[in-house]
Amino acid sequence: MGLMICQDCRKAYSDRAAACPNCGRPSEEMEEKAQAIELTSKRYKLAKLIGGLAFVFGLMAVMGTACDPITRESTPTTAIITIIGGLVYLWGSLGKWWHHE
Ligand SMILES: [Zn+2]
Repeated sequence: MGLMICQDCRKAYSDRAAACPNCGRPSEEMEEKAQAIELTSKRYKLAKLIGGLAFVFGLMAVMGTACDPITRESTPTTAIITIIGGLVYLWGSLGKWWHHE
């Protein structure tokens, strides 16, 4: 346990405090944690976005082939894209939820 100097008001306060008791500025450790959480949530948002798009795209492609009388052949690639997209989307949702609990 020690003291640290506030970056804003230059007053010393305990390094165990989450924020400066004088001006309310969060300690550097807390800021780093907040940034890490922000980065994590952005990563999961991106996963949800990409996964969701891949899922929708794959689903449309699968349905499109099913309705198309010319290219009726089954396309495992689009099915795989749909499944992976769904899984990535799910991972994004669960991961975000997990980190915020
Ligand atoms: Zn301060």
